[in-house]
Amino acid sequence: MSQSDTDLIIAGGGLAGATLALALARVLPALRVTVVEAFPLAADALPESYQPSYDARSTALSWGSRQIFGELGLWQWLSEHVTPIEHIHVSDRGHFGATRLHASDHNQAALGYVADNRWMGLCLMRALQDTNVQWLAPAEVQGMTPLTRGVRVAVKTGDRVRQLTAQCLVVADGGRSGLRERLGFQARTHDYGQNALIANVSTAEAHRFTAFERFTDSGPMALLPHGERSRAGNQSALVWTLSDDTLDDVLSLSDADRCRRLQDRFGWRLGRFTCIGQCHHYPLKLTTVDEPVRPGVVLVGNAAHALHPVAGQGFNLALRGLMTLVEQFRLATERAQSLGELPVLRAYQARHRQDWQQTVRFSDSLIRLFGTSPAPLALARDAGLVGLDLLPAAKRWFGRKAMGVGGRRAVISRTAQTQGDSANHE
Ligand SMILES: Cc1cc2nc3c(=O)[nH]c(=O)nc-3n(C[C@H](O)[C@H](O)[C@H](O)COP(=O)(O)OP(=O)(O)OC[C@H]3O[C@@H](n4cnc5c(N)ncnc54)[C@H](O)[C@@H]3O)c2cc1C
Repeated sequence: MSQSDTDLIIAGGGLAGATLALALARVLPALRVTVVEAFPLAADALPESYQPSYDARSTALSWGSRQIFGELGLWQWLSEHVTPIEHIHVSDRGHFGATRLHASDHNQAALGYVADNRWMGLCLMRALQDTNVQWLAPAEVQGMTPLTRGVRVAVKTGDRVRQLTAQCLVVADGGRSGLRERLGFQARTHDYGQNALIANVSTAEAHRFTAFERFTDSGPMALLPHGERSRAGNQSALVWTLSDDTLDDVLSLSDADRCRRLQDRFGWRLGRFTCIGQCHHYPLKLTTVDEPVRPGVVLVGNAAHALHPVAGQGFNLALRGLMTLVEQFRLATERAQSLGELPVLRAYQARHRQDWQQTVRFSDSLIRLFGTSPAPLALARDAGLVGLDLLPAAKRWFGRKAMGVGGRRAVISRTAQTQGDSANHE
């Protein structure tokens, strides 16, 4: 085992890959971890130009994710620039249904937090600086060959392709590089035929730490409290779902007309939209891989599942999966098993399966249910929203789902768990 070049190779140093590297450095510091990242990421410095993970997006981190980052010792930095979500308001445009969730109903300070992806990237890079994780960037994982014990991974740096041996390869490339397909994994994709337009917006009224999820006949939209950490803050991060045609139309509008269009879709719960910042857009697909493990290789993050962003579940689900994988690697190390052994990876898959199946179903059914407008369905879903608002048990379940708690919690390390628990009671 120790004759390999490294113990574990992570393909992709985005949100999933970098968080996994940090968690392994915390829990299994003797493990030799190598991250291969296609973009020139360096400790404490993100490139000024585009980087696919640490870009202009904001991420709604659930309460459960905040606990995980607490266990990893990252929350102390992350929390310097996050905006709490104390309330969630879910509504259906043009219909009567609405439901409201409040952190105080769950005896917590917040249901979740909004963090800029770029800020998360900076915190991760800064934390990784003090670990022995090795970074190869810019470099690309091109392929992998299984060995009797472990794997051989082809890593391209400039014009040179090197072969690195390791116990296991973790693919955290976001699923867009073609690596998953080259390794023979079958992904199932449902194209929602929609795009997510994101931008920061200012409104005449304060958000009062409220996140809005609004379903409209042209697609769902979300407004997350953002920026200045004050109840009087009036900036929100917008995720606006638009069909291909409507996207082109909205992009061609002036800022003032775009604000007016947004006003028409969202309504007046935050008063007038006074300003809309730079817009970016992403095509929306549901991608899942039923069997994300093979001997010596495992898919994580968006490489394993990419969800519609409006329910804000993708990275939160990925994070829970990463902690389950770390837990499994810890157990394998204690039992002197190789990390890439199929029983080790299958045990991870079995532990994480229920969570990912439920979360994928939860977020996909929200989009499908609220994306259709035949009258009986519209009536049923509005009755559902009202019912949710009135039924404490159903509302509590919905709230716990949004907070990313309630399921099995991975035991990544007994010390980390204890430290995290005390941090979480601050
Ligand atoms: C508009 C939008 C809003 C979202 N909002 C939320 C939210 O509020 N809450 C939430 O939980 N989730 C949200 N998500 C989902 C979340 O952004 C993703 O789950 C997350 O970015 C996945 O991270 P990743 O590291 O798996 O993939 P990526 O972010 O795609 O990162 C992949 C990394 O791998 C590198 N790479 C690619 N190919 C290779 C290769 N061959 N070799 C080496 N490196 C490679 C890339 O450079 C990149 O750094 C949102 C998604 C979108 C599109």
